[in-house]
Amino acid sequence: MKYVVIATKNKGKVMEFNQFFSEYGIDVKSLLDMPSVPDIAETGSTFQENAALKAEEIAAKLGQAVLADDSGLIIDALDGRPGIFSARYAGEPKNDQANLEKVLKELEGVSLEKRTARFICVLAISVPGKQTVFRTGYCEGKIALAPQGENGFGYDPIFIPDGYEKTMAELSPEEKNSISHRKNAIDQLEDWVQSLVKEG
Ligand code: IMP
Repeated sequence: MKYVVIATKNKGKVMEFNQFFSEYGIDVKSLLDMPSVPDIAETGSTFQENAALKAEEIAAKLGQAVLADDSGLIIDALDGRPGIFSARYAGEPKNDQANLEKVLKELEGVSLEKRTARFICVLAISVPGKQTVFRTGYCEGKIALAPQGENGFGYDPIFIPDGYEKTMAELSPEEKNSISHRKNAIDQLEDWVQSLVKEG
């Protein structure tokens, strides 16, 4: 396998995957290089279903290995919300600021100890003719009482990772990438990539 297609148009994600795969001599292409591939609707009811939908549909179309991810924020005091609806929690059009304000409003009166939460990242890798492989990564933490920091995206300004006293948006991109749910999931790909490399 000379390259893997990453089913995303997010440059940050492409860089993270590229860093990992380049160590194995595998190139990465993304949907930024393939404008003709249509967006796949995320109609599944779990992170796993949504990641598989994207990976399998695009792999079938291209006849090529495709890796897709689906990620989001799970808050215990909100029964797991925003969950798979993380990107559009406050409705259309997608708005990170409105999403985090909605979360803070819903958590009003909930003490910091009870604001436990985690980011989740599910990776699905589809290779034509093979069963889809999944890996799941987490980043545990708490939801802050108010937004802090300018880095990152999404819910980063209100997420305090375990072991830190600042939000994800106050960490440098390198620091965030070293503890993120995506990094955790990518690290778990190692055995899968090594078996592929052995197969040739
Ligand atoms: P997607 O899987 O990239 O579409 O992410 C879904 C949504 O989850 C994003 O729009 C964000 O709201 C949230 N999310 C996923 N990963 C992160 C992260 O690393 N920081 C902050 N928010 C995230």
